[in-house]
Amino acid sequence: MNAKILDGKAIAKSVREDVARRAAELAARGTRPGLAVVLVGDDPASQVYVKNKDKAALEAGFAVRTLRKSATTTQAELLALVRQLNADSTVHGILVQLPLPKHLDAGAVVRAIDPAKDVDGLHPENVAKLVLGERGLFPCTPRGCIEICDRSGISLSGRRAVVVGRSMLVGKPLGFMLLARDATVTLCHSRTNDLPSVVRDAELVFAAVGKPELVRGDWIRPGATVIDVGINRLADGKLVGDVAFAEASARAGAITPVPGGVGPMTIAMLLDNTVIAAARAAGIELRAGPLAAGSAAVRA
Ligand code: NDP
Repeated sequence: MNAKILDGKAIAKSVREDVARRAAELAARGTRPGLAVVLVGDDPASQVYVKNKDKAALEAGFAVRTLRKSATTTQAELLALVRQLNADSTVHGILVQLPLPKHLDAGAVVRAIDPAKDVDGLHPENVAKLVLGERGLFPCTPRGCIEICDRSGISLSGRRAVVVGRSMLVGKPLGFMLLARDATVTLCHSRTNDLPSVVRDAELVFAAVGKPELVRGDWIRPGATVIDVGINRLADGKLVGDVAFAEASARAGAITPVPGGVGPMTIAMLLDNTVIAAARAAGIELRAGPLAAGSAAVRA
């Protein structure tokens, strides 16, 4: 079998167009979505991410404010900045780029963000809302995985989904999002016994491990959908996912490539979260547009 390639780049583009349309609708009604990105220190990877986020947000018509702070910024200074952004009514989304320098307490900084502006979906109040099935703001990468399935006509309800990885950023929230969409979910991790046979049972495989090509082709059930979150750079500079792509695509029904799969979706969903936060702050009900109806469970 030759798997259908799920083109995350194209899907992210259409999400971003949808976001831009809703941002224009909000702006016409007096609320231009505002995103504040806080970058502490000079980690080169973070600089690149922040630059890409700024560019995408500007293209979507947002007001973007990037606040660059030196690596010696204190916890008190950072908390004061977050409080200032919380109080600023032109800022609807606050993103503090992680990781922070080691002397800073990232958990305390995330907890200081107003949950209604927490567009990364990491505040404990939003984590609780996801678990409780309430309206909140939810993490961007797992939302991107769900959106790829929705926009590719891949049904989730009633299906056996295996998520490999249980991080707070990807694996755990993805597990709850799939559960909210009525999948039967198994969450795996480094202590899972006989991972290959657990994955073999899955109709939907989500890999978020951070180990190059850990998931082999013969772990994949013929016809399964494979969503690869992993981004791993090999010694020769090549980027690979957590799934052995060539082997897996010979058995899967559909698969995301790396790069060009889940990666581009993360920023698209960050923009989507910001537009949702801005609309809620303004008390404006926006049409969901082409976003699949099923997404409501993880957007609401
Ligand atoms: P973490 O390191 O936080 O979590 C990795 C998870 O994988 C842990 O739960 C760990 O288990 C599990 N794990 C590790 N080794 C194994 C193994 N041999 N078998 C089974 N499970 C294992 O990573 P993240 O969740 O932050 O990221 C995962 C991957 O996704 C990375 O490659 C990262 O670069 C990528 N990523 C991509 C994004 C995108 O935009 N596309 C965004 C975020 C991440 P345990 O809990 O037991 O330690």
